[in-house]
Amino acid sequence: MRQIYLCIGCAAIYLPPESMTYPSHPDVTASPAHCGNPSCAQAAREAAAMSGLTEAKIGELARRAAGLDGPVRMARIDRRPARGRRASAAPGGSRGKLR
Ligand SMILES: [Zn+2]
Repeated sequence: MRQIYLCIGCAAIYLPPESMTYPSHPDVTASPAHCGNPSCAQAAREAAAMSGLTEAKIGELARRAAGLDGPVRMARIDRRPARGRRASAAPGGSRGKLR
């Protein structure tokens, strides 16, 4: 499965080539922590300098925080009622005064 990346500068979600290189731009390498915006590259460099982590690690933590790490998860709908509350009625299950 291809990894989806999250830019730590602008929160954009991006999908670089798996090789992280672009045939048309041999001198450009995709980063695991920021998109192609120069200000985002700067933000990633500063984050790395401040935290002492590599940009790859920062990108990994950002993806994990956003739920983008590993297989894409579908939103889970929890149908259990909150503590102390009754379960919501099933569709069509209500008995109103008009029936
Ligand atoms: Zn960005």
